[in-house]
Amino acid sequence: MKTPESEQFRDSIGTVTKEGKRAWIFPKKPSGKFYRYRKLVSYVLLAFLILAPFVKINGNQFLMFNVMERRFNIFGFPFWPQDFHLFVISMIIGVVFIILFTVAFGRIFCGWICPQTIFLEMVFRRIEYWIDGDRNKQIKLDKQAWNAEKIKKRLLKWSLFLIISFIIANVFLAYLISGDRVLQYIIDGPTSHLSTFISLLIFTAVFYFVFAWFREQVCIIACPYGRLQGVLLDTKSIVVAYDHKRGESENGRKKWRKNEDRTALGHGNCIDCFQCVHVCPTGIDIRNGTQLECINCTACMDECDDVMEKVGYPKGLIRYASEDEITKKEKFKFTARIKGYIAVLAILIGLLTGMLFLRNDVEACVLRLPGQLYEHKDDNIISNVFTYKLINKTTKDINNIHFKLKKHKGIIKLVSTESEFTVPQQGFAEGTLFIEINERDLKSDKNKLFIEVYSGSELIETTTVNFLAPRSY
Ligand code: SF4
Ligand code: SF4
Repeated sequence: MKTPESEQFRDSIGTVTKEGKRAWIFPKKPSGKFYRYRKLVSYVLLAFLILAPFVKINGNQFLMFNVMERRFNIFGFPFWPQDFHLFVISMIIGVVFIILFTVAFGRIFCGWICPQTIFLEMVFRRIEYWIDGDRNKQIKLDKQAWNAEKIKKRLLKWSLFLIISFIIANVFLAYLISGDRVLQYIIDGPTSHLSTFISLLIFTAVFYFVFAWFREQVCIIACPYGRLQGVLLDTKSIVVAYDHKRGESENGRKKWRKNEDRTALGHGNCIDCFQCVHVCPTGIDIRNGTQLECINCTACMDECDDVMEKVGYPKGLIRYASEDEITKKEKFKFTARIKGYIAVLAILIGLLTGMLFLRNDVEACVLRLPGQLYEHKDDNIISNVFTYKLINKTTKDINNIHFKLKKHKGIIKLVSTESEFTVPQQGFAEGTLFIEINERDLKSDKNKLFIEVYSGSELIETTTVNFLAPRSY
């Protein structure tokens, strides 16, 4: 069955030719109010993205995602492997927040905040406009034979892309292994840390591939968030939308002709100038409705506003609006779905706050030495042997650490010459200890003991162990 003309756009995508090859997008250079705002937001975000792994709060890196060592810092708050559940809850909060935002305001995150868009549209694309010129010049240069001008421009552009990809790879590495380590590795030189340097070159190649070639394909094909859009959006979500009622009217869009009474002819405000299509970085026609490829970058809004101004129609033919606002003139409402997400978000934030409040700076873990039960010593003393591990999550050394039994009479002996020890900042201490208790102070063959961990006279943590004895008393 032949697809109706109005639906034919569904049979193809703007980035693929009829032959199934990649159709390179040459978007027109955006300009206008929203582009100015987006540039300002991008400057702040670029500064944030580049500086975040080098800024510290209380000695902790502001943002770090050390996957290899399972150590994460979020807003200067350190999460250790033992805090993985807290990290997972934080990530879930992030996801729910983005879902809530998407249900209410569409893919606003993609257009304004996503690092892929920020780097591509505000760094790489702007370099391209600077070297190759605007859309028409870029198309001409692309078709041009490899003469001196083209070689010079391509070499300059690709070299700059490579340098910026290398810088981004360094920043990315700082998020993974910490900013301090990256700075130290730079001072030491690449040969001192060859494996890290090779990883850095691989990251550089990946970023170069993404920003110089793959580009909008990330948003269209690779990004899972983009693909979720279909289930998250509804007719009440505010998205970058073409006002088809106004644009098409009864007899559809039509090219602009001076001195023509379009209202009398029943034509809409869209003058079919294709400026919104030419400016689109994902190559779509927003007049076909909300599409998976639309990253809500607002470039078409600016472009259409400019056209409307020139032909004397009100701005906002393409604007932030929901389908219900366009078709039923309905204003934004807090739907049951939005309220539900807000409730889930509030519960998760409450849960995380409570868990963070209860979290200790020091984590103590005392475990029975594998294969050991108990030892019956002289004078009716029962002895059990344990291993301990203390983790210091703070950025200060914790000194004069010693253990005490909370309720039971007995002694704790460390298998070391010192009775007290230090746990280094952001590090750990481990060893073996004996607990000795007189039989007369035991009530059972299995006794739950509370071990208190002190730093000097300050109680910093309490943990429990099972103490085994020969029989029930
Ligand atoms: S820029 Fe505006 S007037 Fe021109 S084609 Fe797009 S929607 Fe129509
Ligand atoms: S349709 Fe408009 S908002 Fe969507 S990606 Fe294209 S230019 Fe950006």
